[in-house]
Amino acid sequence: MKVKIEDWKEKIEEAWKKQNSRVIAQNVYFHEVIWEMSQTAFDIPREVQVVIDANAKLFISVGSPGFVSFEGQEEQLPGMKMPIIQWIHTHPFGDAYFSGRDLLTISMWERHLMQAIVLGKDEKMTMFFRVGKNGQHLQEYTQYTWIGDEEE
Ligand SMILES: [Zn+2]
Repeated sequence: MKVKIEDWKEKIEEAWKKQNSRVIAQNVYFHEVIWEMSQTAFDIPREVQVVIDANAKLFISVGSPGFVSFEGQEEQLPGMKMPIIQWIHTHPFGDAYFSGRDLLTISMWERHLMQAIVLGKDEKMTMFFRVGKNGQHLQEYTQYTWIGDEEE
């Protein structure tokens, strides 16, 4: 795999620090940087995954355009503290939705998850866990336009 932007992970980390104090679900700038890296940092658009743990520490990985494996990476992520505040990954082809495999991953990890987010082109799908009246999960579809540092 050819990396075109060597410091792509640092760029995501910087965007996170910049937005850290804001309401997490509205981190448009942070999410946009993840999306941009997914599109431009590699030889071809690739799936980028960012896991934010309970200590607000980021675990960043990249896969081929498809599914970025979450399971089995636990050993590779020493110090990851549950619960996971956000599990974010991109769909480089542009459509933000939870695929069958995403839902399978969620079903295995949901007790450790607070939010799961799929980033597409100018859109994202968020799942909030256990926030409904009866403790059910809620999904929110959002479209946005990113203009510099402005919020949606
Ligand atoms: Zn997916």
